[in-house]
This record gives sequence, C-alpha cells and structure tokens, in this order.
Amino acid sequence: MTIDSYANRFVCDLVAYEPGKPIDETARELGLDPSQIVKVASNENPLGPSPLAKAAMRDALEEAHIYPDGGGFRLRCAIAEMHGFGRENVVLGNGSNEIIELLCHTFLNRQTELIAAEHAFVVYKLMATLFGAKYVEVPDPGFIHDLDAMADAITADTRLVFIANPNNPTGTMVDQQAIDRFMDRLPEHVIAVFDEAYIEFPDNPPDTLKYVREGRNACVLRTFSKIHGLAALRVGYGIAPAHLAELLQKARQPFNVNAIAQAGALAAIHDTPHTKATRELNRAGLAYYEKAFKERGIEYVPSHANFILVRTGSGDRVFRDMLKQGVIVRAMSGYKLPDWVRISIGTGPQNERCLEVLDAVLAAMA
Ligand SMILES: *Cc1c(COP(=O)(O)O)cnc(C)c1O
Repeated sequence: MTIDSYANRFVCDLVAYEPGKPIDETARELGLDPSQIVKVASNENPLGPSPLAKAAMRDALEEAHIYPDGGGFRLRCAIAEMHGFGRENVVLGNGSNEIIELLCHTFLNRQTELIAAEHAFVVYKLMATLFGAKYVEVPDPGFIHDLDAMADAITADTRLVFIANPNNPTGTMVDQQAIDRFMDRLPEHVIAVFDEAYIEFPDNPPDTLKYVREGRNACVLRTFSKIHGLAALRVGYGIAPAHLAELLQKARQPFNVNAIAQAGALAAIHDTPHTKATRELNRAGLAYYEKAFKERGIEYVPSHANFILVRTGSGDRVFRDMLKQGVIVRAMSGYKLPDWVRISIGTGPQNERCLEVLDAVLAAMA
C-alpha cells in the first residue's frame, strides 16, 4: 500500500482545475517569441493592470520585508466605502476564488449540499467535492440560470446556492426580478452567494448588495482580476452581513492577501479612467465578434461579460489548431460543452487576429 490510500478520498477523486494555457509555455512549444502569442483564454484585461496600481506596487516593494497587514485595514475600508458598507462587512481573499473556499469551509460537510446552475463556473463543483458535500446541478435552459428551479431544488441540507452573474463561461445574466423572486423564497438555513466577477461590464446590473444591507443571508463576491486587470495579484473580496463576514474571517489564513497585492488593489479602486477604458474596449470587442459570428452564421451566446461562448464544433480540435497559430482560446469540454470554445475579448488587433485564425481553422475543418 502506498500513502495514497490514506489520503482524503475527496481529494483523490478531485479533477484539478485546468487553467488557460500560459503564454510562455505556448511560445516555448511553438518556438515563438511570447510577444507573438495572443492569449484570449482567461478573461484577462487586454489593457493590462491599472497604471495607478503599478506605481503603488512599486512603492510597496520597499516594504517587502514587513509582513502584510493581516487585517487588510486600508483596503477593506476603501472597498467598504466604495459600496456604502462598514469594514466589518468586507472579507479579503486570495482572489475571490478563496472566498468561495472560505464559504465552503464554513458551511459544508458531508451532510450538506451546494446548488449551482448546470453551466456555472466550475470552481463551485470542485469546492463542494473537496468538502465532501453534495453538488446539486440545476438545468439552465438557454444557458441562463433558472432561479425558480434553483429555489425549488433547495432542501433541508442545502447551505449554499451559487449564482454567477454574469456567469462564466456563458456570459449570461439574470435580472433583478428573478433575483428578487429567488430571495423571497430563500430559507434561513441557506446563503445566496452572488459571484459578480464580471459585474462591472454590463450596463444596468441588478443590485444584490441591497440584500447584504438588509442583513439577509447573502454574500456578494467581487474581484480585482477582471475589470482592474490585476489577475496575477490574486485579490478578491466578499461583502456580507457582519456576523457572516466574521465567520469567514476565521476560516482564512492570517496573511492571505500579500502586501503588494493590497497596495495595488487599493490604488486600482480609484483608477476610474482605466476602468472606463476597459469597459469601452470590451463593448467594442463584443460588438465586433457578435457581428462577425452573425455574418458567418456561427452560433454564439450573447454576452454581458468580457468573453464570448461560440459554437465551433469540436472545441478541443479548434483549441489545438488555433494554438498552432499562436492564438490561445479555451475549449469547453470540461463544462460539458464539447462543441464550444470561449474567447476572451482582447484589443482590436487581438480580436482581428483571433477571428482570422478561427476562420482559417474552421475552413480547414469543413
Ligand atoms: C474569474 C472569476 C472569478 C475570480 O477569480 P479570482 O480568484 O478573483 O481571480 C470568480 N468567479 C468567476 C465566475 C470568474 O470567472
């Protein structure tokens, strides 16, 4: 017997998260310069990091020998102020992915259930599995979360319901009425988790923070990885009623968000021009792709986020063939969407290059 047989069964059974293929790895394999690679696989910000964040991080390097503020005082105050809350309502995470884990740590065990939509962000399933909880997947006709069906699926064992809005990888969004109806039916032993990693991209997103303000069982997740262009830093946060936030604080590592990241995120909050430019570039890129797919008669899912799900046939093959030409997209077989790829919106030239390569690959497959 090897030591593996003594390992936690939930860990052994886990299928590890597969990230987008890294630029350096691709460049090495193709013998290309990394600057020639177009990576549109991880919903990163094509404008790069907020310039204010970069400057703040350079300054923070001078203090790199000092442990970070484990309580994240300044960043939590700034986040709270931005949303009209108090510091006690804000939990920082090593990416908002860590807040997902903290919620599972706090509320899941083998007797409990987590509910999510069929084509929801895959991390919910990974985390539910890791904690031995039952993962309940609710069909999402038209790729839109069916919140009425998700409310119907709640049992006495349910603790967490994840609503990704807009959702990744579908880019779809549920509206205020659907959310209000869902919240009207939420029992007191269940927490509604609104994962809003892309909420800065759509024009009139629903308001879920009002539920936190009312002290309901709601936790809103946000991140600096997308609109602020700081994915490498790993900073995200949860906003929750104080008693819930306090529980999540107990479940985290003492220094879960490093000092450089805290400094960068703090500066990024105030970089409105960068946020605005990101949103505008994204809007133009989405319009570009939607028009192109319509012209070609290619099926796609209208998106509210910074990526678009498109039906190409054999997503694995399209991914591989595009990769050979230096364009990295994301195959969706892991989401049970083998005919689809997800393309992140890039700069104008990146979008054009991506479409050109996609056209060539599809023509060769036909
Ligand atoms: C990108 C993303 C996140 C945020 O991840 P970080 O850990 O903050 O980088 C969270 N939820 C969804 C649905 C995402 O797509």
